[in-house]
Amino acid sequence: MTSALPALGDLPVDPGTGVLVRVDFNVPLAGGEVVDDTRIRAALPTVALLRERGARVVICSHLGRPRGHRVPELSLEPAAARLAELLEAEVVFAHDTVGEDVEDLAEDLPSGGVMVVENLRFHPGEQENDPEFVARLARLGRFYVNDAFAAMHRPEASIVGVPACAEAVAVGLLVEKEVAALSRLLQGPDRPFVVIIGGAKVSDKITVIDSLARRCDAILVGGAMAYTFLAAQNRKVGRSRVEADRTLLARRLMERCAERGVTVYLPVDHVAASAPNAEPEVVREIPDGHIGYDIGPETAARYAEVVGRAGTVFWNGPMGMFEQPSFEAGTRAVAEALANSSACTVVGGGDSVAAVTRFGVADRVSHISTGGGASLEYLEGRELPGLKALRKRST
Ligand code: ADP
Ligand code: MG
Repeated sequence: MTSALPALGDLPVDPGTGVLVRVDFNVPLAGGEVVDDTRIRAALPTVALLRERGARVVICSHLGRPRGHRVPELSLEPAAARLAELLEAEVVFAHDTVGEDVEDLAEDLPSGGVMVVENLRFHPGEQENDPEFVARLARLGRFYVNDAFAAMHRPEASIVGVPACAEAVAVGLLVEKEVAALSRLLQGPDRPFVVIIGGAKVSDKITVIDSLARRCDAILVGGAMAYTFLAAQNRKVGRSRVEADRTLLARRLMERCAERGVTVYLPVDHVAASAPNAEPEVVREIPDGHIGYDIGPETAARYAEVVGRAGTVFWNGPMGMFEQPSFEAGTRAVAEALANSSACTVVGGGDSVAAVTRFGVADRVSHISTGGGASLEYLEGRELPGLKALRKRST
């Protein structure tokens, strides 16, 4: 796990060198426009550095799930247009991903020129990691750079196939930053190390909670998943979302935490209602027929206090259905506690990142992970296939 990743700065790029860059431009689109360009902005430092060194930069990404077919609504063309605006430079768009025409366009790029090729997943070979597709992709650049941290856990052609056949490889600057921030959580985090876990489903996150429980000092549970933990303790949860087939796992996890001296905090009060748009009430016990949609104020204050004493905090998953203002207070309180803390604070997960942005504290946490599933797999201590493919080349 510790062998160094090949750095972008060490890539022997000369003016005119073709570099294929795998990015994560999996952005939300509406009416042919990019709705949120965060992921495009995240790739700018790597693209800028390669352009400064005179590379011909060929960018590839997936977008959505077209499952091997051309789906016009999932074209990367709007992302390429947004990239051109952000770079204030021309960006060529190739209407296919691979093939002789695309190779010719890549060859014709001037030194420092940028091109985006069409959605990788329009070809079945991408997700199948088909050797033929890998070879065609690899022809688009002499060197290969991976700056798609959010896709590092996927054993696909552009992630694990191409790096095995490029002449030289490197991680992009975004990946380097992500790995540095997340590896701090695995290796000697400042104590106490507090993990805050929430969101919709226990089943998505139980393995990462279990592995973080080996390293952390306290776990704060919120969001819908809290009800599976409360149900595991035979507490009344009304009609709240419970994964009945996960209560046993939740109970075992709490037992293991107790053995290891890890404190697990569950909500002591709730904001509940009979339906999302019904009048909410603060309750200590959820009445029959009611649903818990947020942690209550006493829970929020306790969680904020634990965060205030922490040396390191990792947060994944909102504390409630924060998209609705009547159920946002718990998530807002936790976001503000992170912002006010002097600990190393890391936030991961699409909805959690949306929450810290919505509450205006994104620039007051130490690191916002763009990774989602990839970040969670990394924190489980598993080597991500994309990083492994790059490390193999560096030894
Ligand atoms: P992340 O994207 O940060 O990993 P998840 O996708 O796991 O987070 O969960 C986020 C979703 O969970 C949000 O849409 C939120 O509305 C929902 N959620 C959180 N708490 C509850 C709850 N008590 N009941 C229903 N939905 C909830
Ligand atoms: Mg989510």
